[in-house]
Amino acid sequence: MSKILFIFFDGIGLAPEGEHNPFSAAPMSLTKGVSGAGFVKGEPIDEKRVVFKGIDAQLGVPGIPQSATGQTALFTGVNAAEILGHHLTAYPDNRLTEIISERNILKVATDKGHSATFANAYDLNAYNQLIQEGRILHSATTLSVLGANLPFRTLDDLRNGEAVYWDITGEHLRTHRNKDIELITPEEAGKRLVMLMNKNDLILFECFMPDILGHHREFDKAVSFVQLMDRFVGTSLSELGDAGTIVITSDHGNMEDMSSGGHTLNPVPLLAFGKDAQKFGAARSITDIAPIILSILEN
Ligand SMILES: [Zn+2]
Repeated sequence: MSKILFIFFDGIGLAPEGEHNPFSAAPMSLTKGVSGAGFVKGEPIDEKRVVFKGIDAQLGVPGIPQSATGQTALFTGVNAAEILGHHLTAYPDNRLTEIISERNILKVATDKGHSATFANAYDLNAYNQLIQEGRILHSATTLSVLGANLPFRTLDDLRNGEAVYWDITGEHLRTHRNKDIELITPEEAGKRLVMLMNKNDLILFECFMPDILGHHREFDKAVSFVQLMDRFVGTSLSELGDAGTIVITSDHGNMEDMSSGGHTLNPVPLLAFGKDAQKFGAARSITDIAPIILSILEN
């Protein structure tokens, strides 16, 4: 049985070292120590337990890669930008919603008898209210969970150590949602995700902080986030052992180039680490991730 933890960061591209790249200012030293991958452009790594390289997010479609089409591509393997003829921002439209509902990795995995879960904790009452008021639409990850008919993890799961909030520590819940939630360290968050592999074959986690920081062009905050991300990712890699494989990638570039507040044309980093990392050596674009994940589960 092969298990996979898929950590998705929204808005991280792979760029060379440079003054506008927060991954230059705060090297991913823990992560690099364990895997060799520093999340800046350099020599790709292709070893028995580590694959690290840039993969294409533009999908052969002119224009700047965006979240709705990029995430649909990542979670389904379908070239959503090609189907629409353009890159679609933010939330999936009806066409993409249908594709995600039918073909996302959580659904395909559970249909084939594997256990799958979305590790993110939801403040469900607040979330449902925002949806009902039409103030937000479902994201690609939420649509994936709904399509697979899986339960959402809640703030109680977060309190019980069985979920992670999208910002990794839960700080956003305290500062923006006025929730009395104990913060967790990025190390604890990394351990929790690996622990979820005990009970699940496929675990998905989403963090969209890099995209927000990139749009806001807050370089110092981006540097702090890279340090936090390093503790989170570095811990999950070191805790993994023989439990399976961790794959980390993104939907499009943004935070790696803070000279502008928009998405970039850079490739996105792909880090695969652990038992079946080698299988990701064949990945060339963000449409290749879902099929490789499913083939590993079928092993
Ligand atoms: Zn964005």
